[in-house]
Amino acid sequence: MTEAADLVLRNGRVRTLAGDAAEAVAARDGRIVSVGRTSELDFLVGVETTVVDLDGRVVLPGFVDAHTHMDLLGKQQVEADLSGATSPDECLDRLADRRAETDGWVLGFGYDESRWDGGYLTRDHLDDVSTDRPVVAYREDLHLASVNSVVLDRLGEEFPDEYVETESGTATGVLREDALSVLREAIDPGPERIREYLLTAQEYAHRHGVTSVHDIVRDPAVARTYRELDRTGELTVRVRLNYLAENLDAVREAGLVTNHGTEHLRTGAIKAFADGSFGSRTARLSEPYADGEGRGEWTTPPEELAALVERVDDADMQAMIHAIGDEAVDAVVDAYAEADRRRHRIEHAELLSEESIRTAAEEGVVVSAQPNFLKWARDDGLYDKRLGEQRRRRSNPFGRLREADVPLAFGSDCMPMDPLFGIAQATTAPEKRQRLDTTEAVRAYTLGGAYAGFAEDRLGSIEPEKYADFVVLDGSPWEYTDPAEIAVEMTVVGGTIVSE
Ligand SMILES: [Zn+2]
Repeated sequence: MTEAADLVLRNGRVRTLAGDAAEAVAARDGRIVSVGRTSELDFLVGVETTVVDLDGRVVLPGFVDAHTHMDLLGKQQVEADLSGATSPDECLDRLADRRAETDGWVLGFGYDESRWDGGYLTRDHLDDVSTDRPVVAYREDLHLASVNSVVLDRLGEEFPDEYVETESGTATGVLREDALSVLREAIDPGPERIREYLLTAQEYAHRHGVTSVHDIVRDPAVARTYRELDRTGELTVRVRLNYLAENLDAVREAGLVTNHGTEHLRTGAIKAFADGSFGSRTARLSEPYADGEGRGEWTTPPEELAALVERVDDADMQAMIHAIGDEAVDAVVDAYAEADRRRHRIEHAELLSEESIRTAAEEGVVVSAQPNFLKWARDDGLYDKRLGEQRRRRSNPFGRLREADVPLAFGSDCMPMDPLFGIAQATTAPEKRQRLDTTEAVRAYTLGGAYAGFAEDRLGSIEPEKYADFVVLDGSPWEYTDPAEIAVEMTVVGGTIVSE
């Protein structure tokens, strides 16, 4: 007699991404056991089977978000949310609410001064929230933070001068770049709060149909908390942990190698940075910016990148290197072309040369990109300003990458974490070379991420023996003109409903 399934989803439209469409799917012990017609799968229903009648709703493989910062996402959810505030006073009110809920640091995220007169929040503003507890309000791009007098008194000496804004010799409370690293180390949220951040981010991910993430961890305490959550069975999202290059020796000494781990928590890649961003004109370009001097900066110069890739490769680890401008992307692709391992990854790659596209295809380099960034590729968007029309049209060339057979994985960078929004951006991109059809876009957000994480045998499509990770949608991305309007109705990980 056939053993009953744990979960049967029936009467739906199952897009398997593995050939034929189906109506139903059954899972047992975390894995898919059968995919087919409802009438064929009903015999797997036993007394203890959870049965979901989908009434024609659409089932896709769970989304794999290939570039996330879960602790930060959780932090933004848990701490004061300053996004959408239309005045400094509104920010201060929200921070005061948060002050009342917590002890210690009062944190807020996501303010945007362009919503009022364009002035940043200052120590004078934030001293209204508290004069005896440290208060920090981060700008939405996280490259700038405003702090109150308590923070300046406590940490003033430690902030590098060039990143502390002053007015007639006095610090205004506005901090930039490296000063923020000092702040990050000082804030130390502690294990309980980190747990809250990660669990909140996990819930957020599931609400958006995300079942796997490739997460980038800066803080060793975050990695530790992930292990604890995995041990206690509280980790429902599948996490690939990527470590910063400065931790490479520690990772090696701990005996970690890429792909080592459990069903929910694995070691991923070593993350490094080749350049900065277009927003701050620090991404490294081959030609000058359209609206400023210079061609941007190297965060790691090409010779050092090549040496780093060699070390990572020798350590039997995957590399993932942030490169946004075309000259930075060229340098990373060249370094990967010398490596022994394949499937090293480039993060973002917002502008790349035709030569790099060809080399990436030949060498099997994964482009891990953010379709949501296409929101900047419209007329008068950020790319228009920074890059001018020609380069704006060549940015994020997903259609071209697909055509050239470059492995493409989609991720959100949590800006925002929302695969359906990303799929909508990729399918409606202004230029043909940027555009994907719906199947290709969904594939990049499922199988593409699975491949980037060496998990295509376990994730990314709905086939027997793969993990039973699904998302149920109230509409079909193939039918909606704007897939971003589709709601996620249910998310399943390993045959268990984790969100509905
Ligand atoms: Zn990122």
